[in-house]
Amino acid sequence: MIYKRSSQLFTEAQKVIPGGVNSPVRAFKAVGGEPIFVKRAEGAYLYDEDGNKLIDYINSWGPLILGHAHKPVIDAVVEKAKSGTSFGTPTEIETRIAELAVKMVPNIDKIRMVNSGTEACMSAVRLARGFTGKEKIIKFAGCYHGHSDSFLIQAGSGAVTFGTPNSPGVTEGTAKDTLLAKYNDLENVKELIGANKDEIACLILEPVAGNMGCIPPAQGFLEGLRKLCDETGILLIFDEVMTGFRLAAGGVQERMKVDADIVCFGKVIGGGLPVGAFAARNEIMDYLAPVGPVYQAGTLSGNPLAMAAGLAMLTELHDNPGIFESLDKKTEYLHEGMEKVLKANNIDFTINRVGSMISVHFGKEPVTDFDSAARSANLGIFNKFFHGMLENGIYIAPSAYETWFISEALSYEDLDKTIAAVDKVSKDL
Ligand code: PMP
Repeated sequence: MIYKRSSQLFTEAQKVIPGGVNSPVRAFKAVGGEPIFVKRAEGAYLYDEDGNKLIDYINSWGPLILGHAHKPVIDAVVEKAKSGTSFGTPTEIETRIAELAVKMVPNIDKIRMVNSGTEACMSAVRLARGFTGKEKIIKFAGCYHGHSDSFLIQAGSGAVTFGTPNSPGVTEGTAKDTLLAKYNDLENVKELIGANKDEIACLILEPVAGNMGCIPPAQGFLEGLRKLCDETGILLIFDEVMTGFRLAAGGVQERMKVDADIVCFGKVIGGGLPVGAFAARNEIMDYLAPVGPVYQAGTLSGNPLAMAAGLAMLTELHDNPGIFESLDKKTEYLHEGMEKVLKANNIDFTINRVGSMISVHFGKEPVTDFDSAARSANLGIFNKFFHGMLENGIYIAPSAYETWFISEALSYEDLDKTIAAVDKVSKDL
């Protein structure tokens, strides 16, 4: 494939944007080469500035469950824009989307909109600290909750891809309040709680991890965390920025039948526009300003265009629950197809999958936490795989630590093409 114009645009971008990208995960630094500049997208496909067509497995890093430029979403945004873009006053649509979210997600009474997943998680932790009067938090190695200071301790996603899981610029004072646990290791969490008795406000995790590849919670892990939190008065925060409205209408809480105290959303709830949200039962949410003492605000929060996109998206997911079953079936088909060809080509691999999230790891051992994900992130092989797939028109995330997101716009023909590409590429790995 030819990337002449992308390359030219990247040269221009690097002069005025750090690294030429507005989010590090877009750079091809880890896999080598230069990022592709996208001109437009529709359904399951990206069209780049050189006219190449790519089958997309990133889907804007998760939110585009129904595919790119989904008509009801685009129509809703265009129509809304005609009435103005932002007022800084309440609007009816904010209540309508909140009502729908509260209906879809178990165990929440109120929800507040913000502008990104980072803001959602950052605000959820502040709320937990304000509510409990405690300062420490527990996070898990390899989980990513945005780039707010207290989360950049052994963070996943771009932070690990680029070798900075603990970012300079985070003060020692902030770092010492973040306790680090091992994903899928209840004993480790118990020890941490025991060693910091009555000091921990909350425990935050991705209930299905998606930022160190896709890692499912082990049998009993989420239930065990729920029990530990109940016994110790610690609030359990599910970061459902990736999983919310994707793994089920009600996210992981519904799919795995474990309740969280606070839930964070992002991406999906804005239908691809910049939105995040956090939600909980009344007792906790009423701790927020202007009712309660914990301050949190945003000029563009609940922005009408973003709410219009989000409402169109959630309405479709709510009205057509069959979408989740269909997504799961497509992902299972891809899983089985890739497994077959990777086996036939004698590749050491592990595939992890939950619902419509899936990741391929180039190692034999099970990938269950950050350490095993790192051992399986065989970069030499992954980078070859990534570029081979791209050459065959398949766009996956340019990092061994990311998840593939399946959209409903993908046809079985697209999946067959993808499996054929995996077959072809794995012959040369
Ligand atoms: N939490 C999770 C689980 C995420 O995957 C991400 C982003 N990939 C975030 C939080 C941060 O969201 P944003 O990039 O919108 O700030």
